[in-house]
Amino acid sequence: KELIKKLEDTIENIPDFPIPGIQFKDISPIFLDPKLYEDVIKDLVAFSKGKVDAVCGIESRGYLFGIAIAVALEVPFILIRKAGKLPPPIISEKYDLEYGSAVIETREGQIKKGQRILIHDDLLATGGTTEAAAKLVEKQGATVTQFSFLIGLTGLNGDEKLKKFNSEIYHILEY
Ligand code: IMP
Repeated sequence: KELIKKLEDTIENIPDFPIPGIQFKDISPIFLDPKLYEDVIKDLVAFSKGKVDAVCGIESRGYLFGIAIAVALEVPFILIRKAGKLPPPIISEKYDLEYGSAVIETREGQIKKGQRILIHDDLLATGGTTEAAAKLVEKQGATVTQFSFLIGLTGLNGDEKLKKFNSEIYHILEY
């Protein structure tokens, strides 16, 4: 549809960044076009309307859209951050990267037991980050009912990794 075409024309592909072999998708030109940004939010809000009790955004590009989605849905927004940024008390989840590991965290008590949660990020690649975020949410007695992304990189099998959560998965466009 129209939105997909407009996004494809706007998102920049930068070869070999941050390391050789990676095709980096730069979403920052979307913010130069307020009408396009608004249309992206509307599309993501339509996916989640009436289906979630709170939105979790993944640092940092997940915040750029996640908070607008939450405000439009009139539900709380919760920050999932990289280790060491949030003050205590926190809940954390460790996960493996290609080399080494990473930790993500949320403030304890912000996610409530039994809530239906949307996890949002700008881009789904291998799914490692999102999978850790979903585990972090479930640790707190809530259920991840939806995942949304602007971009899904097919071929890295991110969707496959998220299947076990039995949630709806949505990306506006795929590469
Ligand atoms: P994953 O854990 O492999 O799915 O990687 C997803 C995370 O890496 C997201 O938080 C993205 O913001 C980031 N990421 C990976 N590749 C790109 C890219 O090409 N453009 C922008 N962000 C990326």
